[in-house]
Amino acid sequence: MKVVRATARPTKQGPADKFSGTVWQDEVVVGTAPSRMRATIVSFTPGARTAWHTHPVGQVLYCLSGIGRVQRKGEPVQILNPGDTVMIPPEVMHWHGAAPDRLFAHMAMSESTDKGETTSWYELVSEAEYKQPPAAAA
Ligand code: MN
Repeated sequence: MKVVRATARPTKQGPADKFSGTVWQDEVVVGTAPSRMRATIVSFTPGARTAWHTHPVGQVLYCLSGIGRVQRKGEPVQILNPGDTVMIPPEVMHWHGAAPDRLFAHMAMSESTDKGETTSWYELVSEAEYKQPPAAAA
């Protein structure tokens, strides 16, 4: 058994080619084989979001705090609240991030493929895409 100490893992800033705005990432786990488990706490400042991307084995987002947004390409933007879980299927183009005027944090969970493949990144989400009015929350 191993305890990985918080003090050994400084918070990292999300790189500008994969995120718009200021985003902070705290690694939870990057499993070693045979595990393919990966989890990260991602904290988005207001208006910050991922670029468009896909996950080869899908992704689960568990919303921790604040108010967020998620969009599958071709569908309306959706509002996310604490306690919501988002299930993103394999190879589905999407983005996620904060509301324009609120902080947002989620735990992002996914598995790599048996070849070690993870996220595929595409273009940044434009202001026009981000500012589409979200669908009414269920
Ligand atoms: Mn994702």
